[in-house]
Amino acid sequence: MNTAADSAAYVLLLFNECSLALLHRDGPGASWQATAGGRVSAAQTLEAVVHEALGRVAGAGGRAVPVATTGGAALYFALVPDAAACTTTGGEWGRFSLLEMAALAEQGELAPELTAVLPAVRAHAIRIPYLNHSESDYIYRFRTEKQRNRSVYRYDEGASRLYQSVLCEAIKRLRRVKERSAAAPALLDFGAVRYVLPSHFGFCLGVQNAIERAYETIAANPGRRVFMLSELIHNPFVNEDLTARGLRFLQSDKGRPLADSATGRALWDDLRRDDIVIIPAFGATDEDKRRLIERGIELNRHDATCMLVEKVWKAARRYGKLGYTVIIHGKHEHEETKATFSNSSIFAPSLIIRDAREAERLAAVIAAPSPEEARAVFAATFAGRHTQGFDPVRDLQRVAVVNQTTLLRNETLRIIDQLERAYSQRYGAVAVAEHLYSESRGDTLCYATQVNQDALGRALELPLDAALVVGGKNSSNTFQLFRLCEKKLGLAAHYIQSERDIVSLAELEHFVFPHHPGDPREGRTERRGFLGPQGASARTVLITGGASCPDGLIQQVVARINGFFPAGQLRPIEQVLAELEAADPKGDDQRC
Ligand code: SF4
Repeated sequence: MNTAADSAAYVLLLFNECSLALLHRDGPGASWQATAGGRVSAAQTLEAVVHEALGRVAGAGGRAVPVATTGGAALYFALVPDAAACTTTGGEWGRFSLLEMAALAEQGELAPELTAVLPAVRAHAIRIPYLNHSESDYIYRFRTEKQRNRSVYRYDEGASRLYQSVLCEAIKRLRRVKERSAAAPALLDFGAVRYVLPSHFGFCLGVQNAIERAYETIAANPGRRVFMLSELIHNPFVNEDLTARGLRFLQSDKGRPLADSATGRALWDDLRRDDIVIIPAFGATDEDKRRLIERGIELNRHDATCMLVEKVWKAARRYGKLGYTVIIHGKHEHEETKATFSNSSIFAPSLIIRDAREAERLAAVIAAPSPEEARAVFAATFAGRHTQGFDPVRDLQRVAVVNQTTLLRNETLRIIDQLERAYSQRYGAVAVAEHLYSESRGDTLCYATQVNQDALGRALELPLDAALVVGGKNSSNTFQLFRLCEKKLGLAAHYIQSERDIVSLAELEHFVFPHHPGDPREGRTERRGFLGPQGASARTVLITGGASCPDGLIQQVVARINGFFPAGQLRPIEQVLAELEAADPKGDDQRC
């Protein structure tokens, strides 16, 4: 697409921040035209002509990006600040969403050359909000300590109760001296009962960012409708608090469209240009983003995709460009994995595998003695989890593994080992490196998942009577923490959503996480024994929370258990905190 000889015609479309196309017409009754377009002479380069055309309508500094060649014309997009556009005089300028452009085309009000490229515009619409991003840019970087807005956690009594905890603050200040490495756990000795809390638990940087942005956006836009694509994070109490403040969800965490309770219509269908839609920390599929772009919703400013999720997308893209098929270790029903799959599919054949059991099946496909057998085993296990046209014989020749950010690192490593053995068996040990990208050993796991798991591992080394893992019913990283506890403590490890699940010292409601979709024994709560009757000797309870668990919930759990003891049997919290301060391991190798 470099010379006029390669492509003699071009169409340049300008978009503003809301992905609205800036179209021009000579006057009422004339058809709407692209920002610029036409043919170039043999003496000109296409880039120079497009750049000059862009400068004429939007001033200097813009960047036109070639996105496709369609119907003999090179299609260029440019993203410009709304105010910078339309500097030419004469005629009329209008701003149109892609859906509105389609309607104009149907009514014959769009210029034929623009109508001809409309399918390509739609096909590449996902690029519009991110046109000015380079490979090394992230949609949304973590806020620095200075940029953070902690005031949202103290908006009112409800927010304070949910997010604030003197106990957790003290533990994090004293124990979480390095954000990314685990340290010794904290012991809180209340006398009748003791608690062990890992150095790292609860909110990660990605979740903090998303929450602060959501509260800020609601507060800053009192007259506008603010939606979230789906749950901001996997914590029902946080989501309930946000909805109480006016936020609405467009779809469930499984992607099911939600309806307006008054009209019964799907909220998606009623979206308006001036609505705000926040993309949650897990990111969104390209399909969902395209639907928002088509409606003229400003995407980039309200995209709270965690940069560590985006890092996985970038890794998948890199592997795809290197010619590898991307194997995604994740749960196909999880929003993050869906978004990763959607991103990865653009650049590479992609396949989702859930766990080591499925990796064993994939290994059987790789090692199958005949193509027919390989295809049969593949179809029996992976239907609906791969890109269209995926051929296991062709597309499993060279693979690279990425993972959902919130799984157990050891499981991803185990899967890579399983694949390594399969390729070794198929092609011989010396040839494995040609078939399996081996520099990515679980390096797309997020730091918060890893450090929460590491810190929990250290806490689990202490003598314990029970463990409580606090988190939402669909929180993958919470479930991974629970599995670590269960491995050590068996039936004394419990998954709860909040203090309300603790019935008494003797009993609680344990949530059986739906690890295997469709298994009727999972996805429900069951009553279980907890610590035994009051009066038993002092018990030690480990408490931790997933990356989406607010500190306030941890404190409520402590308060709930303490509440079962007569006040006289408990040491005052000030004394417990003072002891924690005194035990602070200053100067040891865990400090910065
Ligand atoms: S758990 Fe990790 S990937 Fe997910 S939001 Fe938090 S920091 Fe980001």
